[in-house]
Amino acid sequence: MILVTGAAGFIGSNFVIDWLAQSGEAVVNLDKLTYAGNPENLKNLQGDARHVFVQGDIGDRALVDQLLKDHAPRAVVNFAAESHVDRSIHGPGEFIQTNVVGTFNLLESVRAHWTALGDADKAAFRFLHVSTDEVYGTLGPDDAPFTETTPFAPNSPYSASKASSDHLVRAYHHTYGIPVLTTNCSNNYGPYHFPEKLIPLVIVNALQGKPLPIYGDGQQVRDWLFVKDHCSAIRRVLEAGQPGETYNVGGWNEMANIEIVQKVCALLDEFRPRADGKPYNEQITYVKDRPGHDRRYAIDARKIHTELGWKPVETFESGIRKTVQWYLDNPEWVAHVQSGAYRNWIGTQYGAA
Ligand code: NAD
Repeated sequence: MILVTGAAGFIGSNFVIDWLAQSGEAVVNLDKLTYAGNPENLKNLQGDARHVFVQGDIGDRALVDQLLKDHAPRAVVNFAAESHVDRSIHGPGEFIQTNVVGTFNLLESVRAHWTALGDADKAAFRFLHVSTDEVYGTLGPDDAPFTETTPFAPNSPYSASKASSDHLVRAYHHTYGIPVLTTNCSNNYGPYHFPEKLIPLVIVNALQGKPLPIYGDGQQVRDWLFVKDHCSAIRRVLEAGQPGETYNVGGWNEMANIEIVQKVCALLDEFRPRADGKPYNEQITYVKDRPGHDRRYAIDARKIHTELGWKPVETFESGIRKTVQWYLDNPEWVAHVQSGAYRNWIGTQYGAA
């Protein structure tokens, strides 16, 4: 049994689906169901006794203590977070509350639980914290990619809150001896991605004839990884990572935002041509840049590759085809997200509010 937090969100739901398919080991899924938590992501697990869903906050000590007591998980994987940079600019408070205070409370519950375990269980236990490459700040065009020893220099309230949580996780290993692992991953894309993020936003807006907004000059460079490859990296780190270590996870796919949008438009032209026969990239609209927008992120993922033998399966070309196809195949999921109906789904399925 493992406890996974935030697994009604984009990456967490992909992780749980993948985990149950690969290992079969049961999962307790603790998710607060913020706007980003979508139980419809887990629809295919309905009736699967290996998946126990609990609606709640990682910062709720009494609830988390009880879950650890009842289920005695051998590992905790922490995805729960506020994750959208733009929202952190307009309202940083929630980011501090969940990403910093929430992670702290979760670590406190884990510390109490772990301290009471016998020696063998203590040694086997893992707390895996899922984090981002954004903690390292921004790179110039010729700078070497981020390694695990690149100093933290977060520039947005989101990345600062994630950097804080990474530091806390590290401290709980060095101070209390808890066997923690941290992964710092680049931008993910794939199924179940909330359409406020670049790739799903472009797909959904393009199909609905809306503008495709590009911040500034669109030359901001990011590394991109197909979400299932991120899930396999987390599985691998959980299985073989060294407690106390951090692992950078990336796709060796550096690309400017405008290139990404052009590629998505070209795939839509191929899969679902516009009724008027014109290309989707006609809908691209440049908008005022995000304040403090980082120029470039790049990940050096050699450590996880050489030490743990992990590498991604998808290229950007293969992963983005699957992603665009998934959105075309799942109009109901998109419609429910846009109408807000996904928020009601939990009541009918799990009996929770
Ligand atoms: P998401 O916003 O799609 O999902 C976050 C989930 O956490 C939601 O289901 C939400 O309901 C839940 N949640 C929020 N606050 C909570 C709380 N206090 N208690 C319990 N649950 C809570 O995010 P995502 O894109 O799936 O990212 C998951 C994790 O991976 C985050 O920690 C993020 O920082 C990290 N990450 C994301 C990316 C990316 O490209 N999306 C890349 C690297 C790392």
